[in-house]
Amino acid sequence: MKIGGQIISSLEFPGIMSLVIFAAGCTLRCPYCHNPELIDGGDDIPLDEIFITIQESIEFIDGVTITGGEALTQPDDVLKVLKYCRKLDLKTKLDTNGSYPKRLKRSIKFLDYVALDVKAPFDKYKDIIGSDIGDSVNESMKICHKTPHIFLECRTTYVPFLMNADDIMRIAQKITCDAYTLQQFRNRVVLDEKLLDTPNPPRSELIEIANQILPVLGKVKIKTAEFGDETLNIFNTSNHDKRNFSH
Ligand code: SF4
Repeated sequence: MKIGGQIISSLEFPGIMSLVIFAAGCTLRCPYCHNPELIDGGDDIPLDEIFITIQESIEFIDGVTITGGEALTQPDDVLKVLKYCRKLDLKTKLDTNGSYPKRLKRSIKFLDYVALDVKAPFDKYKDIIGSDIGDSVNESMKICHKTPHIFLECRTTYVPFLMNADDIMRIAQKITCDAYTLQQFRNRVVLDEKLLDTPNPPRSELIEIANQILPVLGKVKIKTAEFGDETLNIFNTSNHDKRNFSH
């Protein structure tokens, strides 16, 4: 499997310490990609070595997160890792851009948690990230809906000038999920150098947008460099996320 690294972290899988596997490869070219080195990079690591790493981590972890890049560019290897985790009774989480609904469907019964990027309103993907994959992302979301045991988080990185508050409202009106996260764009590492001059949106702007979509979603998490994860609920209170997930 081609990967860019593995770490143990409490940040990637809410409520769970997990081994995080950074799968390499991605067919998209989001201008704000913050892991551009993974798009065409990574090292070929035999699956047996990855299984050994999981085994060696087992006393420190309760789950495995497969992130990227886009892990489903390597669907067979991802499936084998997920099946291996199941054998060890580990929880499993997949981060995906949603461009491979059929591959997601093959893996879904071996997953507990799916974090699905909803990068734009489904009909504005081409304008915002340059790839017209909105229908596939929508289909991926529906596959999660049909799988009752899946905890589905939808996430959007809010990038000023590429999108606006109306876009986030349109996303909110079209998604159904267990959790929605609005992530702060960071301009330190980006794929398209033109974005290096785009300011990071302040936390206050994310809170303002989150408050606009709260009546639609009931609960919104914002993620900023300054304050980490904060959850706003319909009562307009903000709490640092306790990082629990439940079905
Ligand atoms: S942000 Fe994700 S989906 Fe977009 S190019 Fe980077 S790895 Fe691919």
